[in-house]
Amino acid sequence: MIEVIDAERCTSCNICVSACPTNVFDKTDGLPVIARQGDCQTCFLCELYCPEDALFVSPYADAPHPVDVVALRQGELLGSYRRAVGWADGTRGQRDADRSYQLFGH
Ligand code: SF4
Ligand code: SF4
Repeated sequence: MIEVIDAERCTSCNICVSACPTNVFDKTDGLPVIARQGDCQTCFLCELYCPEDALFVSPYADAPHPVDVVALRQGELLGSYRRAVGWADGTRGQRDADRSYQLFGH
């Protein structure tokens, strides 16, 4: 479940607002807000698309698990899913190594 947007990293690009399939976020004049956390499907799309690694989606899908954003930042956990699946520039090799990616060529 989406837990936090890091106000220090977020640039208010609103990509996460557009990427979320269940309309969890609301745009504002500044940073987007997590307006409907209970509608989160833990799909990780917002974390995949955030260019600043400013989001954290907890693997716990059933209920919110409050997090410490400073600890997440220091532990390099923000954007960790994105890096793990090869969506970050530095981890592209992991995506290329994915057999299904090779088969379908995307
Ligand atoms: S995609 Fe990332 S940087 Fe852009 S508004 Fe959302 S949290 Fe902020
Ligand atoms: S994990 Fe998926 S459903 Fe949840 S806020 Fe992010 S994009 Fe929306």
